[in-house]
Amino acid sequence: MSLETTPTVPDDHILAVYNRAPLAFERGLGARLYTEEGDVYLDCLAGIATTGLGHANPKIVQALKDQAEKLWHVSNIFRIPGQEALAARLCEETFADVVFFTNSGTESVECALKTARKFHWANGQPERIDIIGFDGAFHGRSYAAVYAAGNPSYVEGFGPALPGYVSLPFGDMDALKAAIEKPTTAAVIIEPVQGEGGARAVPETCLTQLREWCDAHGVLIIYDEIQCGLGRSGKLFAYEWAENAAPDIMCVAKALGNGFPVGACLATAKAAKGMTVGSHGSTYGGNPLAMAVGLAAFDELSRPETLAHVREIAGYFTQQLHGLKERYPDVIVDVRGKGLLIGVKLIPNNRTFMALARDEHLLIAGGGDNCVRLLPSLLITAEEAREAIEKLDRTCEAVRRAAAA
Ligand SMILES: *Cc1c(COP(=O)(O)O)cnc(C)c1O
Repeated sequence: MSLETTPTVPDDHILAVYNRAPLAFERGLGARLYTEEGDVYLDCLAGIATTGLGHANPKIVQALKDQAEKLWHVSNIFRIPGQEALAARLCEETFADVVFFTNSGTESVECALKTARKFHWANGQPERIDIIGFDGAFHGRSYAAVYAAGNPSYVEGFGPALPGYVSLPFGDMDALKAAIEKPTTAAVIIEPVQGEGGARAVPETCLTQLREWCDAHGVLIIYDEIQCGLGRSGKLFAYEWAENAAPDIMCVAKALGNGFPVGACLATAKAAKGMTVGSHGSTYGGNPLAMAVGLAAFDELSRPETLAHVREIAGYFTQQLHGLKERYPDVIVDVRGKGLLIGVKLIPNNRTFMALARDEHLLIAGGGDNCVRLLPSLLITAEEAREAIEKLDRTCEAVRRAAAA
């Protein structure tokens, strides 16, 4: 875009909290995004793991349209049959007995944190308030969620620290054991595969060990599966890869609405014992529109065929990316993650790499630890995956050319 045609900054009136790419899209279909000018991009980030079933998925669009003509909103002072149906489905397929619906991932984290503290309070142990989190974690942007993750740049300047939040180095099992043994510990919050942290999977044996320690000391486990859950790992939830590692509480969102804002906090009946009438609530959470979309999306995401497809495509990506790593050791230093939550750790700056990929009309996400993340639609075809690899190959070439220039 030439300077003459952009007399003013177009997002002058938008709060300047985002580092945006200079691109806008008009429509999408499956794994493709189209600009107004008709340029086509291969979308391998899916709204950061949100449009898990692709853009404009016909089944989800139909569910939204059908519901839009019947009823949008009534308030949680009434029964909402769609909530009852989706909660039943979520409980059928997981460890959970009860569900609270929210409008975002952050809100499901808020509900999880409150549920954990209230559990101990209801048990006559109000001193148990500490929430143990990890380096590189991301749990959202509310005041509590930024402290649960502990990223210093996300808490800086926002006033006094919330009490009762402890951050541990990722992978430090000794520190974790010591924290769980403390009599003031309420819960551990962990992403089975870190998303923003750069697609770092927690080893399955560590989750099993965590469960054992928490059981021994009456500490609750909260899984944040907002990014890694709902099929992305190749199982419906990432914790299922580990033996005997079910949580007490779990947060989901992102793919649950395929882009429609909806989240959920799942819990066992035991863990939810403190959450009695009046202890929590939401105006929009679980409204009929969100539930219609959520039910349709969950049906698709939980199909065994969808999960098998994710595992197959993920296997292809992993194998091909390792090939690129061999051929471009000056560009790629590590390939990691789980399923279609793939992290590629780079030598060149990840923002530079993302811009060069964009020149190839490939969209990928950034991540911690100088990673880029591939988070495509779970329904991405083998042909599209091959195209993504070709574009990444050309991106690596472009990095080399830029370095030589
Ligand atoms: C995106 C995300 C959140 C926050 O969800 P919002 O819908 O942005 O509030 C929390 N945890 C994880 C792991 C996420 O990826």
